[in-house]
Amino acid sequence: MKKIIFLLLLPLLSKSQQDDAAFIKKISNEILQNGQAYQQLKYLTKNIGGRLAGSPSYNKAAQWGLETFKKVGADNAFLQECLVPHWIRGKGDYAYLISEKSKNKKALSMTAIGNSIGSKKEITAPLIFIENYADLEAKREEVKGKIVYYNAAFNATNIRTFKSYGETGTYRVNGPSRAAKYGAVGVVIRSLTEGTDNVPHTGTLHYNDSFPTIPAIAIGLEDADFIAANAKNEHWKISMKTHGKMLPDTINHNVIAELKGTEFPDEYITVGGHLDSWDLCEGAHDDGAGVVQTIEILRTFKALGYQPKHTIRFVLFANEENGTRGGAKYAEEAKAKNEKHIFALESDAGGFTPRGFTFGMSKEKLEKVQEWLSLLKPYGTESLEAGGGGADIGALAKLLGTPVAGFIPDSQRYFDIHHATTDTFESVNKRELLLGAVNMAALIYLVDKYGL
Ligand SMILES: [Zn+2]
Repeated sequence: MKKIIFLLLLPLLSKSQQDDAAFIKKISNEILQNGQAYQQLKYLTKNIGGRLAGSPSYNKAAQWGLETFKKVGADNAFLQECLVPHWIRGKGDYAYLISEKSKNKKALSMTAIGNSIGSKKEITAPLIFIENYADLEAKREEVKGKIVYYNAAFNATNIRTFKSYGETGTYRVNGPSRAAKYGAVGVVIRSLTEGTDNVPHTGTLHYNDSFPTIPAIAIGLEDADFIAANAKNEHWKISMKTHGKMLPDTINHNVIAELKGTEFPDEYITVGGHLDSWDLCEGAHDDGAGVVQTIEILRTFKALGYQPKHTIRFVLFANEENGTRGGAKYAEEAKAKNEKHIFALESDAGGFTPRGFTFGMSKEKLEKVQEWLSLLKPYGTESLEAGGGGADIGALAKLLGTPVAGFIPDSQRYFDIHHATTDTFESVNKRELLLGAVNMAALIYLVDKYGL
């Protein structure tokens, strides 16, 4: 019966669309039945674990990536050296909230923000409650000698949580220097999450060289809500000690595999995710998922005997989290070698149920891509729309003008675990992870077949 329905639908499609639909179904069957991405993710997260740029575990992950690419049949697999920042957290960080009235001392659920300097010794200073930058500007005269607490919360009315992250991310990235400009001695932020637990979320910051560098931490939302609920009636001090340190730059590697193109071997399609993760978590969704999906696509093309027209590069990028130097290096080298890159796709939004892709490319190219929607729909893709690619392929778009795309899975749960200890292997669902690889592989196949 099912077969009859399938056959009845076929006449609506052109011959090449029928071929495409059939081949994408093959891709899907191969990945859902024989996919290894989930087991590989288990190895990466449990046997290697957190893998921040510059750490010994990053190097282990890079070796694992190289061997895995060879095992699944890459025509060619190699490491690409790049210099990366080397931040270490140190041990024994803590922070307390101390009531001026009762002298009660409450331990805060905290984590140092990545790239932040340590406090050297314990610092204790009055907390100043800041809602947003407008509030900071209004209170600029009161900031000196204090610890700025930014309470910028995700906008709950946004349906796409990446929008919220985009809106509040600046408090983590730039908030410390903006507070230091007015004499703050430390910064605490409400973690960039809508999670319902009290787990703190790290992430990167950028110090502005014009101002003093001050230590910065993020706290869990239960603690953040406690401060917000009582800020009007209470005065607090914060006492904190952190041990972060930026060591000299060190060498890491992008891990690259290729399937050689049969017709256009000198034209490249890139698909990738980033191999580094924050130190405090397993980096399963961010971005172990993108890594194993990338490897899965290569494995699947080999398993199906697919010989691409263009050379497909499968790239595990170094140092996305606190520098994006891996992506920069990949693009610089492509430019130096005068390579022609026709498309790049990144998976760095978690291993959740596929929803679609966003594209950074001309309107004409996007319209061409959008004609493929009906081919992708059976596998979960709902929309193909304008938007960005990803942090690691941003440099390709910038330096070479490469059309880019980002894989967009469902975003509702991503920021619950993003950059937190809760981003574990157990938080990834096998079918959701594999379906992501199916949609990505299908898109790569279509770009390879029809060009852009
Ligand atoms: Zn990421």
